[in-house]
Amino acid sequence: MIPFSPPRIDDKVIQEVTDALKSGWITTGPKTKRFEKELSAYCGNKTTVAVSSWTAGMELLLRWWGIGEGDEVILPAYTYCASANVIIHTGAKPVMVDINPEDFNISLKAVQAAITERTKAIIPVDIGGYPCDYDGLYALVNSPEIKQLFKPNSDFQQKLGRILIASDAAHSFGAKYKGKRSGALADVSCFSFHAVKNLTTAEGGSMHINLPDSFDHDEIYRELCVKILHGQSKDALAKTQKGNWRYDVTEPGFKCNMTDLQAAIGLIELERYQENLDRRKEIFRQYDEAFQQETWADCPVSISADRESSYHLYLLRINDFTEDQRDQMMQEIFDQDVSVNVHFQPLPILTAYKNLGYKMEDYPTVWSKYQNEITLPVYFNLSDEDVQTVIAVVKKAYQKVAGR
Ligand SMILES: *Cc1c(COP(=O)(O)O)cnc(C)c1O
Repeated sequence: MIPFSPPRIDDKVIQEVTDALKSGWITTGPKTKRFEKELSAYCGNKTTVAVSSWTAGMELLLRWWGIGEGDEVILPAYTYCASANVIIHTGAKPVMVDINPEDFNISLKAVQAAITERTKAIIPVDIGGYPCDYDGLYALVNSPEIKQLFKPNSDFQQKLGRILIASDAAHSFGAKYKGKRSGALADVSCFSFHAVKNLTTAEGGSMHINLPDSFDHDEIYRELCVKILHGQSKDALAKTQKGNWRYDVTEPGFKCNMTDLQAAIGLIELERYQENLDRRKEIFRQYDEAFQQETWADCPVSISADRESSYHLYLLRINDFTEDQRDQMMQEIFDQDVSVNVHFQPLPILTAYKNLGYKMEDYPTVWSKYQNEITLPVYFNLSDEDVQTVIAVVKKAYQKVAGR
C-alpha cells in the first residue's frame, strides 16, 4: 500500500528526541525556545510562539485580539473544520464565503460582499500550500469605505484601525508570495505541525505575529507566552531556578504550550526543510507532466508570477465527473493499494454547520471544485517509482469509471 502522507521519522529525528528525553527537561524549554527563533528567522516575521496545535493557537489569537460575541469573522467554506470551529468557540459568527474558480482559495469579491460593520477578522486559507492574494486582501481592508465601517472594540483593534488578517497557513509553510514567506504575509498566521503536514512535530503549531511596527512585538511575545500557560507569570523552567518558586496568575489563561519533545522533531524538520520542499516540487512536476496531457484532468496551480506553493497537497480534478463518479474512482484507486484523499468536504455539507444554517447552494464554486477532486499522495519518501505507480493507477481508475 502506498500511504497518503506518512511522517519522515529517521535516526536523526530519533536522536534529537532522545537528546531531549535524556536532558531531564521534556516540556517547554530550550528546544522550544530555539525552535521559535528559527521559525521567525525562516519565515521572516517579527515574533513567533510555538503551541500545541494550529487550533489552540488560532483560537488564542482571536481571543487575544478581543474577538467574541457579536463579531463576525470571514472564512472560505472550502477548508478544514478547525478554521470555523475556532471562531465558534470565541462566540463570534463564522461568515463563510465562496472560493476562486482558478485556485482553491478564498474569493476577494466574495469577501468584499460579506464585510459588515461587525467584521473583525478575515481568515484566508492557503489551500494545498498555495498562498492567497494577500495584497488584494490588504487593499480591501485598507480601503477607505471598509475602514469607515470598522468598529473597534479592543485597544489592539483601535490601534490597527481595520479588519485583522489572520492567515490559516496550516498548509503553506515555506510557500512564497512576492518574495516573502508564509508566516510573514498576514498580521498573524498560524501553522499546523500535525503529523500529516509538510513540517511536523507529531502535534503542534505556531503563532506568527507580523503586525505593523507600531506594535511592540517583544511585549506581545511575553504576553502570549503567559496566555498559553494559564496566565502564570513564570513558566515551569523559570520556576526551577533556585528559590524562584513563587508566581502569580495574572489572568485565567489557556494551556497549549509546545513541549521540547515536539520541538526536537521540529528542529530537525526545519533544518532539512529545503530538501523536503524540493522533493515535493519534483513530485508535483511528475504529476503535472503525466496529467496535463490528459483532457479529463485538471491540475492544481502551484506556481505563478508572484507565488509559489509549499507543495503540500496535489489537488487533482476530474473534469465533468460527478461526486458519485469521483467516489467510485477513489474506490478503484484504493483497490489498487494507493491511498488518496479529498480536500476538503465543504463545511456546509457537514452536520455541525448544516445545523447552524449554512447551505451548500450558497457556495457554487466550492461545490464544483469539491465534487470532482482527488488528492494524490505527496511526501518526502515517496519514490519516483511510487509516483509512477500512482499515476498509472489513477489513469486506469479514470478509464474504468468513465468507461473508456
Ligand atoms: C490541519 C489543519 C488545521 C488544524 O491544524 P491542527 O494543528 O490539527 O489544529 C487547520 N486548518 C487547516 C486548513 C488544516 O489543514
